[in-house]
Amino acid sequence: MNRVRVLLFNSAIGPLDYSVPAGMELPAGSVVQVPLGPRRIDGIVWDACALDATEVEASRLRPVAARHDIPPLSAPLRRLIDWTADYYLAPPAAVARMALPSGSLLGPGRAITEYRLNGSAPVRMTPQRQKAYDALEGAQATVRELAALAEVSEGVIRSLVQSGAFEAVEVPVDRPYPRPDPDHITPMLNDEQSEAATRLAQAVAAAEPTPFLLDGVTGSGKTEVYFEAVAQALRQDKQTLLLLPEIALTQPFLTRIEKRFGTTPVAWHSGLKQTERRRAWNAIITGDARIIVGARSALFLPYANLGVIIVDEAHETSFKQEDGVRYNARDVAVMRGRFEGCPVVLSSATPALESRVMAEAGRYEALTLTHRYGGAQLPRIALIDLTENPPPRGQWIAPPLIEAMRERLERGEQTLLFLNRRGYAPLTLCRNCGHRFKCPNCSAWMVDHRLSGRLACHHCGHAEPSPSACPECGESDCLVACGPGVERIADEVAAIFPQARRAIVTSDTIWSPEKAAEFVAAVEARAIDIIIGTQLVTKGYHFPDLTLVGVIDADIGLEGGDLRAGERTFQQIAQVSGRAGRAAKPGEVFLQTRHPDAPVIDALVQGDREAFYAAETQARRDANVPPFGRLAAIIISSEDHDEASDAARQTGASAPELDGFAVYGPAPAPLSLLRGRHRFRLLVHARRNVEMQRIIRQWLDPMRWPHGVRVAVDVDPYSFV
Ligand code: ADP
Ligand code: ZN
Repeated sequence: MNRVRVLLFNSAIGPLDYSVPAGMELPAGSVVQVPLGPRRIDGIVWDACALDATEVEASRLRPVAARHDIPPLSAPLRRLIDWTADYYLAPPAAVARMALPSGSLLGPGRAITEYRLNGSAPVRMTPQRQKAYDALEGAQATVRELAALAEVSEGVIRSLVQSGAFEAVEVPVDRPYPRPDPDHITPMLNDEQSEAATRLAQAVAAAEPTPFLLDGVTGSGKTEVYFEAVAQALRQDKQTLLLLPEIALTQPFLTRIEKRFGTTPVAWHSGLKQTERRRAWNAIITGDARIIVGARSALFLPYANLGVIIVDEAHETSFKQEDGVRYNARDVAVMRGRFEGCPVVLSSATPALESRVMAEAGRYEALTLTHRYGGAQLPRIALIDLTENPPPRGQWIAPPLIEAMRERLERGEQTLLFLNRRGYAPLTLCRNCGHRFKCPNCSAWMVDHRLSGRLACHHCGHAEPSPSACPECGESDCLVACGPGVERIADEVAAIFPQARRAIVTSDTIWSPEKAAEFVAAVEARAIDIIIGTQLVTKGYHFPDLTLVGVIDADIGLEGGDLRAGERTFQQIAQVSGRAGRAAKPGEVFLQTRHPDAPVIDALVQGDREAFYAAETQARRDANVPPFGRLAAIIISSEDHDEASDAARQTGASAPELDGFAVYGPAPAPLSLLRGRHRFRLLVHARRNVEMQRIIRQWLDPMRWPHGVRVAVDVDPYSFV
């Protein structure tokens, strides 16, 4: 064989054939550099049968320029990339890119130079240099990373290096990681835990590609159970991939793994330094990294020999990627297990309806934990009907909840108030002229953030200093905040209980693993009485003295009214309730609602999970929506309104008319302007047995749009905005 098909790292160009220079071995999966016009570009040697390309005569082929010195991507990973590209209608190159570190990191494991302050001051101090000095005490990183940390230009750091203020440190990127020990400290499992753990360990030992749904109430010990699957993989010298939804939450989790296995796992997330990333990647592809904990991007890495994949909090919607390749990591994880020949464990106290249906159909094997560990009871859930028992005007905490909080303070116990809204208020308006503060780039209100003194758009990140006067009518002292966010609830708490120690927990306050660790330590040390948080506090935490949870607005999630509104509300409230009473002291939960009769609220109060899932499943079946029918969204956008609208209309007009394949729209998207782009949506609703992706491809592939138009297809969409 003297020709190879190469998947180029450029989504706009299809695969191309190249000739193999004499003496070069290029098995499928090899990562290569090839000529493209006058340039060189990276790519992967692909299985010719899996990718169509225009056939070119052998004599016209250009030779592969070089092969990178890394092991070829394995066949199971290549099949996963093919499957993902096919299922999510994404360019194979865009999927393949997720398997490799950025180009500059390819190549043999040499050392990378990092710099750190060496204590001597530079000859000449400037404000910028001073800024770097103040920010970089104790830091060690590459020039680029230091510049980002200190928020100065790379030039400032380089000049400091030249003036001798920084010293260079060579960091080898191939240092091995310590080996985790499967038997470091093993828990005594109770009967139901032990039964589930034994089954998982058996599946790992036999390399069964079975998907498991580990379904257990909050605090039942799901983590301890799947740790036994990890231990089994370790005993067989195999790797574990543990996917987590929210990377800021991993610090307590990493510590927990360290306690169980004697060493911290290898973490993979966007916050890694270049040296860490490279070291991790090398260890992943050689098999040296045994336990890898990562966000969804860790799913496509080239593991040498996977023994098990675990998706923790598998119901979390953050497993769904909403830009670029729009995939659902939970579903792709199941496919990866199938290709790799290893079990996949989806762990959750509130499984996605899709996962439950798969388990009921016998396609996933269900493992169930029915009790909290150690005799802890699930909390009692009570309603506060806001129509009968409203808080005073301009406040949001109703009297019965205030009373319950007072009791906790007196007993030295902790309270968690949950409101899934960052900032102080979701809308600011002028009392004088009615002006509302809107984002210039999006059809969305600017959210008042008092802690940082800004109005900010939560969609595009646009922010401006909080105004003192109305820009429309010029009046001052006339701006009013409408509705509550967590910061406002925190102010209310401060007014009612001035002596209570408060913590606001949102992505604005907990933006790094270190911050998360600080927060956990403070709560554990009982230095905090009342936590006010968004969905960031709904999962993972285990605080023994937290005995009261107040849900400020249980109706908030039902407002959007999309397909999963009920399910999401149920999951969020069940999860946040699960933070209460996890140890010896019993927990209590109050839901503030205006709709005490809504089925989801009723199911929560009755503690009747099964009834909720049954009713929700039936409703989905009746409407023939996922997982019974299939959906795909097509989002057409442009900076020019008419261009977007024309393209959307044309797309709609050329939609195929087929049995079991309906197309709705186009209609302006609910977020009709996002980051300066006008957006239109079409929704495809297909029967399960229809080849939806193939039809969409045949429909959209021949269409040509003006340069400024972007067309994104979202298969199995979670977002309908
Ligand atoms: P889940 O993941 O289901 O929410 P966890 O695994 O976090 O539950 O368990 C809840 C708490 O109970 C944790 O502090 C955990 O260490 C403890 N726990 C659970 N099972 C055991 C066990 N068999 N032995 C000792 N501690 C356990
Ligand atoms: Zn915006």
